[in-house]
Amino acid sequence: ISSKLPNVGTTIFTTMSKLASDCGAINLSQGFPGFDCDPVLVELVTKHMKAGLNQYAPMSGVPILREQIAVKTKLVHSVDLNSETEVTVVSGATEAIYAAVTAVVKQGDEVILFDPAYDCYAPAIELNGGKPVYVPLETPDFSVNWDKVKAAISEKTRLIMVNTPHNPSGYVWTSEDINTLVEFVENKDILIVSDEVYEHITFDGRKHLSLLTHLVLRERTFVCGSFGKTFHVTGWKIGYCLAPPKLTEEFRKIHQFLTFSSATPLQYALADYLSDPSHYLTLPDFYQKKRDLFCEGLKNTRFEFSPAQGSFFQMVSYANLSEESDYELAVRLTKEIGVASIPISVFFSNKKDYKILRFCFAKKDSDLIAALDKLQRFE
Ligand code: PMP
Ligand code: GLN
Repeated sequence: ISSKLPNVGTTIFTTMSKLASDCGAINLSQGFPGFDCDPVLVELVTKHMKAGLNQYAPMSGVPILREQIAVKTKLVHSVDLNSETEVTVVSGATEAIYAAVTAVVKQGDEVILFDPAYDCYAPAIELNGGKPVYVPLETPDFSVNWDKVKAAISEKTRLIMVNTPHNPSGYVWTSEDINTLVEFVENKDILIVSDEVYEHITFDGRKHLSLLTHLVLRERTFVCGSFGKTFHVTGWKIGYCLAPPKLTEEFRKIHQFLTFSSATPLQYALADYLSDPSHYLTLPDFYQKKRDLFCEGLKNTRFEFSPAQGSFFQMVSYANLSEESDYELAVRLTKEIGVASIPISVFFSNKKDYKILRFCFAKKDSDLIAALDKLQRFE
């Protein structure tokens, strides 16, 4: 058959995780915690299952979870959301992103995508007949060059895809970034999808600035979040979309035919767990310790890096060490050294090779130490 996504193969995350497992390597490739979630969460799920909460949840999410998401948003960002009309629970941020793009992108619409970007954005745009317009981020920190954004905006621009903290670079948007975006979209018919799945993982006192915090952005943005990252449960695939009522209405039209609703007992458990804010407010410290441990060890390797600002990924450059492509090196490190990583060329539209690898440090300290020990042997 003629493929609707002719240039898409199996994702790099699947490929590298499988290679890591086949080689018995330490897997710092795919972004998922290498440790278990709080056992309290598991008990809460079983409690709700035993209480018989095992049938379809309401399409938009169980009310108590939507309320708790609104409470969290108020506490963290001082923004009031109506949990009935502005919060929708979905099966992971991947669904939120796909549903938001599908709700608004029509044939021929242009969508601005920063380059590099997380892998699920471009296919969602293309399957809806949209045209990705790539704006390269600035090396080495992958910050936004706003002159380039300005040049990319046209009459046909329908949507801008934002991701802060950024995967794969960890770049965290500044208030200047937010204010410039405001200037560019104010009084224009441009909407925004803001992927904020690493909202609670920022370092060195940086604060994640949600696009919700600016009124001009709030009225045109779908903010996508995920409990997978925040509560160490990537396998649960529960996420959410925050958007003003008119956008939420359109979003739910798509969500109801994609999955209709998400796992009921998991939603009740997450609602209970959210009622203690320390469960997410402690996350920056928790991950900063891991980032620092990993970066300290990296200093004894020949890789070059600057510590990630946010997310649970650390990029390293090997430009001074090898001529190999990042993919070749990622495979060789997995096979010969026993540490798996992600070649970041996969996140670029043109698969450009910057000789950078991405390591996930959301792993047990013992695994990070063992991986560093191996990486230090790499010449
Ligand atoms: N966006 C980004 C930037 C991600 O890194 C990920 C996955 N780690 C997702 C979205 C998908 O999140 P989920 O697993 O909740 O679908
Ligand atoms: N977001 C994760 C990463 O960047 C991967 C999730 C997936 O495998 N789809 O590694």
